[in-house]
Amino acid sequence: MNIGKVVVIGSGTMGSGIAAHLCNADIPVVLLDLKTEIADKAKEKILKSRPPLLFHKNKIDNLKTGNINDNFDNVKDADWIIEAVVERIDIKHQIYDKIFKERKKNSIVSSNTSTIPLKILSEKLEQKDKKDFCITHFFNPVRYMGLLEIVRDHLSDKNKIKFLKDFCEKKLGKGVIICGDTPGFLGNRIGVYAMQVAMTEAIKINLSVEEADAVFGRPMGIPKTGVFALYDLIGIDLMSDVLKSFQKELPKEDVFHKVVEGLPVVKKLIETGYTGRKGKGGFYRMNKSNINSSSKKILEALDLKTNKYSPVKKIDLKIDKVNLLKLINRDDKYGKYAWSVISKIILYSSSLVPTITDEYNDIDEALRLGFNWSMGPFEMLESIGLKNFFSKIENENIENNNFLKELKNKKLESFYGERQKYTDLQTLGKVKKTVIKLDKNDSAEIFRFKDFNIVEFNTKANALDYNSMDALKRATDKPLIIINESMQFSAGVNLNYVMEFIKNKDSKSVEKFIKYFQETCKHLKYCEKPVISAPSGLALGGGEEVLLQSNYVVAHTNIVMGLVETIVGLVPAGGGCKELLWRWTQTDMGKKDPDYAPIQVFNIIGYAKTASSPLEAKPLLFLDKNHNVIINRNKLLPTARSLIEKNVNMSPSNKCKFRLSGDNVRKKMHKILEELYNEKKILDHGMEVGKELAYVLSGGDTNLDKEISEDQMYKLELNSFMKLVENKKTQERIVHTLKTGKPLIN
Ligand code: NAD
Repeated sequence: MNIGKVVVIGSGTMGSGIAAHLCNADIPVVLLDLKTEIADKAKEKILKSRPPLLFHKNKIDNLKTGNINDNFDNVKDADWIIEAVVERIDIKHQIYDKIFKERKKNSIVSSNTSTIPLKILSEKLEQKDKKDFCITHFFNPVRYMGLLEIVRDHLSDKNKIKFLKDFCEKKLGKGVIICGDTPGFLGNRIGVYAMQVAMTEAIKINLSVEEADAVFGRPMGIPKTGVFALYDLIGIDLMSDVLKSFQKELPKEDVFHKVVEGLPVVKKLIETGYTGRKGKGGFYRMNKSNINSSSKKILEALDLKTNKYSPVKKIDLKIDKVNLLKLINRDDKYGKYAWSVISKIILYSSSLVPTITDEYNDIDEALRLGFNWSMGPFEMLESIGLKNFFSKIENENIENNNFLKELKNKKLESFYGERQKYTDLQTLGKVKKTVIKLDKNDSAEIFRFKDFNIVEFNTKANALDYNSMDALKRATDKPLIIINESMQFSAGVNLNYVMEFIKNKDSKSVEKFIKYFQETCKHLKYCEKPVISAPSGLALGGGEEVLLQSNYVVAHTNIVMGLVETIVGLVPAGGGCKELLWRWTQTDMGKKDPDYAPIQVFNIIGYAKTASSPLEAKPLLFLDKNHNVIINRNKLLPTARSLIEKNVNMSPSNKCKFRLSGDNVRKKMHKILEELYNEKKILDHGMEVGKELAYVLSGGDTNLDKEISEDQMYKLELNSFMKLVENKKTQERIVHTLKTGKPLIN
């Protein structure tokens, strides 16, 4: 079998997302809707999407649009036809009728339904057609969400399902979990239940929207969107439809029914057009009208008792790292809430094994891939500890819960077996079970696996500090792979850590840290054993500097790279300026014109340009020739490992030396800054940061006759960084960004 052409029917949120991702994989797609104009609009939306659905705008060339009347004959030579129209069975049945009349023999037909059972979708199909039909349940946004649930039954052609799973893993990079035909499959059955529990318990315990989101978020290893903000994001009306379907499909005795009703306020919100982010707002809203003459927007949250909005209150639970046991044992309302939510999720999930799956691990993985939880319910149980869990649920009746009953009877300390069973790849998650733990500090862990080391950062967003660098430096006695399971490779240097020193008027410690950062990156670069970074997610600022100075990069397609330090009033000082400049001096133009590379890099760093895929990163030289691109995140480690095998005897990198024109090129950079200043695109401090960057990239006090060493470039970076970090206006930028997540223009 081969998939050379796909037809997607329905160009809404999901159809267009699926089509866009097929384009990413260079598979020709035809996207059909009721009218061609609807599909064309969807195409425009794909091009404008943020975060981008496409790896690169030109991937759109793989897409054709049309309508289901004039262009339906595209189905005739398609290998896979995906139905992603509205969630209405009558419409879906009509479409299948048409498809199965036209499609070529043996082609695969699937539905993206999230709630309609396979047996109902396929009830009108002829027996011979049922073997080629299944559900392929993608998650939104398709490019970024790892989960694909394939739902099949005993009539499905096993080989075809296996082929489709392989194809979606290899070509589309999905974590494919094969599910039985049960309501909500695995991800939504537990994920939506968890959301409903989080909501109803918040009301019971009298927590505000912000408080509930602060607990049912990072402290539980769940994205910071929490529950109420997630409701807004998905759409309160859409959630209501999903719940209705669960009500209809689930057996009467299912405890899901207890939490389906949710809150009375939901009905009111929908009726008044407060359907979430796409509507006027939801549990949160942006209030633009509230403030006298200023055009500032204020984020407000709904008071669940009074139904009135007021400015969002920041809740700080003072939790840095996920520690479920500590959280549920807290002696406050947050601990009480966390326990009631977590215990209910564990009780419900375990009660469904083996009804919805024989593999409890698949439930965990579905929550990781489909909801971005860092632990699924069973991992939560393991992390709390069986003894602790059973002593806390003392009064709970688990008579009908065979899974828990068995665990309790066996009096086990721990129970968790293999991880990521859905894939054959040797992922970091699987490997971690067998590694030797060499060392651990507050920011990173060092593992030894076979003949190489692994460093995994583990701070919030993997922000880097002295300890992160220390782990890297100490792990180079063997070939090294820098990789992590959490969402981001690294969002950059930990600015809270830097600001703490600044607040204590301790610039010396900042300087010590930056010097150590430089020393470590230089060490990585010139190491005798290969150093390979395998990033996914954010690789910004300091994170990007680690990549730039690794020998090889195995980059996941969902990566955001960039040297964005100027946004917070700094310049890259971990070798970022130096290394990018070196790469640009090695281009044909860079070799011809000594000012070409400095100006290019000045623009890239000055504008804090980012790339949201390896394809976008290459032209900026964030990635050089020593890189691989991987669409399936699970393949990062095996690929990095094979690179080690190929490069065990690599010779260390050549030293780089620069000839820069100093004042000559600096004048050109200043001219660029003046224009930006006159156009008010930058203000006074922007000018100052720009001038520091210009000083570094022009080589400082130099001319073309002088050779500048790598160490001198590091020194220039450090000096400018220190000058800027001690500047009040840079500090204002950092504080503002840490507080709001947004840049301050000053
Ligand atoms: P949507 O409302 O955004 O888009 C549906 C599209 O189908 C519209 O463009 C509509 O014009 C088109 N359509 C309607 N009738 C049609 C017909 N007869 N022929 C061709 N096109 C037709 O819906 P969506 O959110 O993209 O959902 C599509 C499917 O995916 C549904 O089955 C839904 O349950 C499922 N799903 C949705 C999500 C999600 O997060 N939105 C996630 C997973 C699965």
